Amino acid sequence: MSHGNSNSRRKTPPKPPAWRDDSLARIDFHGAAGKVTGSCYLLSTHDTRVLIDCGMHQGGKQDRALNSAKWPFDPQHLDAVVLTHAHLDHCGLLPRLVAEGFRGKVHATCGTCDLAEIILRDAAHIQESDAKHKSRRLQRAGRPPAVPLYVMRDAELALEQLEPHEFGEFITLAEDLRVRFHPAAHILGASHVEFRIRDVKAERSVVFSGDIGRVGQPVVPDPQPPQGADLVIMESTYGDRDHRDGAATLDELADSLSRAERSGGNVIVPVFAVGRAQELLHAIAMLEQEGRVPRRETVLDSPMAINVTDLYTRNPSCLGETTRARLQGEVPALMPARLRSTRHWTESAELNERQGLTILSASGMCDAGRIQHHLKHNLWRTDAQILIVGYQAEGSLGRALVNGAKSVRVMGEEVRVKASIRTLGGFSAHAGRSELLAWIEGTGEPRARVVLTHGEPSQTAAFAEELERVRGEAPIVPELGDRLFIPRSGRAFELESRRR
Ligand SMILES: [Zn+2]
Repeated sequence: MSHGNSNSRRKTPPKPPAWRDDSLARIDFHGAAGKVTGSCYLLSTHDTRVLIDCGMHQGGKQDRALNSAKWPFDPQHLDAVVLTHAHLDHCGLLPRLVAEGFRGKVHATCGTCDLAEIILRDAAHIQESDAKHKSRRLQRAGRPPAVPLYVMRDAELALEQLEPHEFGEFITLAEDLRVRFHPAAHILGASHVEFRIRDVKAERSVVFSGDIGRVGQPVVPDPQPPQGADLVIMESTYGDRDHRDGAATLDELADSLSRAERSGGNVIVPVFAVGRAQELLHAIAMLEQEGRVPRRETVLDSPMAINVTDLYTRNPSCLGETTRARLQGEVPALMPARLRSTRHWTESAELNERQGLTILSASGMCDAGRIQHHLKHNLWRTDAQILIVGYQAEGSLGRALVNGAKSVRVMGEEVRVKASIRTLGGFSAHAGRSELLAWIEGTGEPRARVVLTHGEPSQTAAFAEELERVRGEAPIVPELGDRLFIPRSGRAFELESRRR
């Protein structure tokens, strides 16, 4: 706002929001619009500004460049951050937000807070070591060193701002805004978040789905539907298809492990250290107990996955019943018989010389971490198998492998792809199309207005079509930077393009 005081040298105050007369609040889409990573939404009422998720952008170079782009809001003017869950693409930029001035609380479930501690420390460590490696190369070429997105100290400061909560408990963020968490399956602590926004004239319920998990996942409780919501901002990662069923996936896993036993080669499984690694171990153990696969040496080669497995025992309220019973000793814990955890880097490096192993390692999309070593040492071998058990974003090394690349660049080296690459579809921690539909149909009457985000454009478009067919109303599909106004009543949610 200008008061004509052109001599003023003070910092420019934040731009006043462009409110519409009848609007109660608004949402700015700063991430995961037209793509699946970088989740970040700004919910603003007339008095309060809350960021929902602060995720890292993953995938190709262009996506990663967004991680260091200027914030489209002032971190100092945020009142709070609310996290749906602790995956890096939902919380990975929090340390940067704190480093650039955010001083409020970060609200999340107990499980999410504990996981975030592991994940953000790991991310800071990767940032520091990547920058160090790059800098050596740059400095040899006489160029300035690389700057990490953030360092360990930033992550530690961000962790100090975390405020843990139980599912179902209402938290008052401001006079006009409350929030509570509901189970979403997916991973430990994952939630959909329900906001109650009110002023003197109205109260409305707005839900952010986070990542919606699946009914019957082995480790976490089933997702709850967003009951009574007026507006639901919903993910659509797998909006175009259903996953292969669990039994068929277990058959394929059994086939791979048996084949590997015959050929003597390694089975390399890129896993997300959080959730997927634990579910895979559970599946391998189940097959072993049923006598369907040989008891091969299984290596969990990810310090983070090892820590996460330990963590599950501390968060019983975030776990599904079967797992809870197992941890409390009523059912034997399911882990592969010959499981080895390699925490130290040197133990991991020794694996490069070995054959006949099943190695679970991160990152899940093959873009960083120890998995790169295992790919470098195994992709060229005809007797090796690479099992893809998770989502591979466009532009990632994992996606190139799924797409059948004959040769790929790994750690600066060209490597021929001779190993067999197999995709096991049933391990997803994301709801497939029918499960997404069942979830949103659980809102009850009157039906919520739906906004679709967090999907590649073709998947979102396919799910939008399906929603329109089933519900008789097309969902709203925002682009990055768009703004949605929430009216005090009715269904006229207006989307405004902010692109210049
Ligand atoms: Zn997730």
